[in-house]
Amino acid sequence: MTLRHRERHRTARIGWLRAAVLGADDGIVSTASLVLGVAAANGTHSSVMVAGIAGLVAGAMSMAAGEYVSVRSQADSEQAALGMERAELKADDKAEHQELAAIYVQRGLGPALAKQVAQQLMAHDALGAHARDELGISETLRARPIQAAFTSAASFAAGAAMPLLVAAMVPAATLILVVSGISLVFLAILGGVAARVGGAPMTTGAIRVTFWGALAMGLTAGVGALFGTVA
Ligand SMILES: [Zn+2]
Repeated sequence: MTLRHRERHRTARIGWLRAAVLGADDGIVSTASLVLGVAAANGTHSSVMVAGIAGLVAGAMSMAAGEYVSVRSQADSEQAALGMERAELKADDKAEHQELAAIYVQRGLGPALAKQVAQQLMAHDALGAHARDELGISETLRARPIQAAFTSAASFAAGAAMPLLVAAMVPAATLILVVSGISLVFLAILGGVAARVGGAPMTTGAIRVTFWGALAMGLTAGVGALFGTVA
């Protein structure tokens, strides 16, 4: 009983924490890459900072917009499915009982017990039972678009602020080395923490996030250096 409870807790917590960590990861990777790209193209310190700040704002806004649209459209399709289910329940109660019982039989209950379970659950909350067991919509997963948009934007901005602050403080000569180094350390920590919270191995999580971050930064810096010498 305790174990089940803790498991449930864990999945609920992973939802928003995972989104927040992913947002911060994105903020670090894209802003550090921008800063490194402009620096590698021999941009002045102020153009490096302007690129970084623009990247922070643009990234946070696009995260918010993307998250809002995706959560909203998910909520819309859930509402539409619930509306259809409500109409079906009204139109043909008997068929809906059979439908739910068939689902429980598929999951391993005997026909007689499945029928009884369907009857009792539908007497208690017919729409809720169909939403959960037929459509897979549960109360805890119900969408909150504004909250999701704000969380994504805020976590992206928090991640993006890290390479920006570092870039603001270090001299141009060491900027590339220090920004990339510190960003990779932060990515490794975040990747490890995210994996830990999700119950996955920490090292694997850290290595995965750091690898992709290093790839993004290296590629952007390479392109910056290339265009810097061409221009
Ligand atoms: Zn149904």
